[in-house]
Amino acid sequence: MGIRSGPCHKFSFQVADILRLNYHAAMKNSTPSRKETRTIHVGSVPVGGNNPVAVQSMCNTDTRDVGTTVQQIRKLEAAGCEIIRVAVPDMEAARAISEILKAISIPLIADIHFDWRLAVAAMESGANGIRINPGNIGGKNRLQKVIEKARERMIPIRIGVNSGSLEKDILKRYGSPVPEALVESALRNIELITDMGYEELKISIKSSDVTATIEAYRLLSSKTDFPLHLGVTEAGGLIAGTVKSSVALGTLLMEGIGDTMRVSLTRDPVEEIQVAYEILRAVKSRNRGPEIISCPTCGRCEIDLFSIAEEVERRARTIPDPVKLAVMGCIVNGPGEAREADLGLAGGKGVGIIFQGEKILKKVKEDQLFEAFWNEVETLLEKRRSS
Ligand code: SF4
Repeated sequence: MGIRSGPCHKFSFQVADILRLNYHAAMKNSTPSRKETRTIHVGSVPVGGNNPVAVQSMCNTDTRDVGTTVQQIRKLEAAGCEIIRVAVPDMEAARAISEILKAISIPLIADIHFDWRLAVAAMESGANGIRINPGNIGGKNRLQKVIEKARERMIPIRIGVNSGSLEKDILKRYGSPVPEALVESALRNIELITDMGYEELKISIKSSDVTATIEAYRLLSSKTDFPLHLGVTEAGGLIAGTVKSSVALGTLLMEGIGDTMRVSLTRDPVEEIQVAYEILRAVKSRNRGPEIISCPTCGRCEIDLFSIAEEVERRARTIPDPVKLAVMGCIVNGPGEAREADLGLAGGKGVGIIFQGEKILKKVKEDQLFEAFWNEVETLLEKRRSS
């Protein structure tokens, strides 16, 4: 008794207080506070400062094929892409930009390698930004011409350093493209352009190695306040690319590093946008479109949940509203485990229920479950939009 009501009792209060304080500190830290960066404008989209982390993608179409490129950009716009980049391998592609811009609503960045004339032509065609690696654009005089055109039109430049295109002297000194080497290259290129009096810059420093990417951006972020474009290069297909990007970009965003991002996947670029928003949602940075909670199923599941979950995911891609939807395998545990969802469905034997919190809204046959559920989702969204 003495022990419980004596010093130990007091001690337990102290422990509880410490735990509570730690918990609150952890919760406070769970929403990343952004590292302060300058703001630049890529067309109508502000990048850096306190602006939301902008989501980008890159077309995998032939830029010279205006119709197909526009079609892809419109799909990306519908998925939430905010800035699009296109490859500019020749003059015909540079000139196609003006036609593409007439048919799209988001800013366009021209991706240039080696030829300064393509950078100038792309800007003359109306590109809202260019991405170059100053080290491979053909020397200082040529870079100067690019900068003059950018200044004339106030077009931001992304300095894109990556592990495959490091300057020879830097590579020789470090022996391999380690994070310090990438950062030195980025700083050298920043200085090259700022010495020419131009500061509308953002920087990317990409590697296909996740830990090297994280270290490189951390280091770069400690040395510059230009906005940073995050990405892992050559990340891979859907699974490998999603995992690599989630770990690298998620870690950096949690540390407040990153002002715009692209998830690179060897897939339809629309999927890059979906993955980007899931990463931003997971780190509590942005919340766009439905969040789907679904169970992995187990022996209690008696409906074809995988098909229903796939259909819910497919339809959900078309709506921008943040809403939490649950797709659960059984009535026994589903509604309880997903009670924080705005709407949910759970399977029974040949039937399913649609629930909202504790309340069961409907019980329907399995073959009508998805459509009945989606009607409820649309009704809920209509109600929210009009309130
Ligand atoms: S919700 Fe039901 S079916 Fe799904 S994992 Fe949990 S117990 Fe299994």
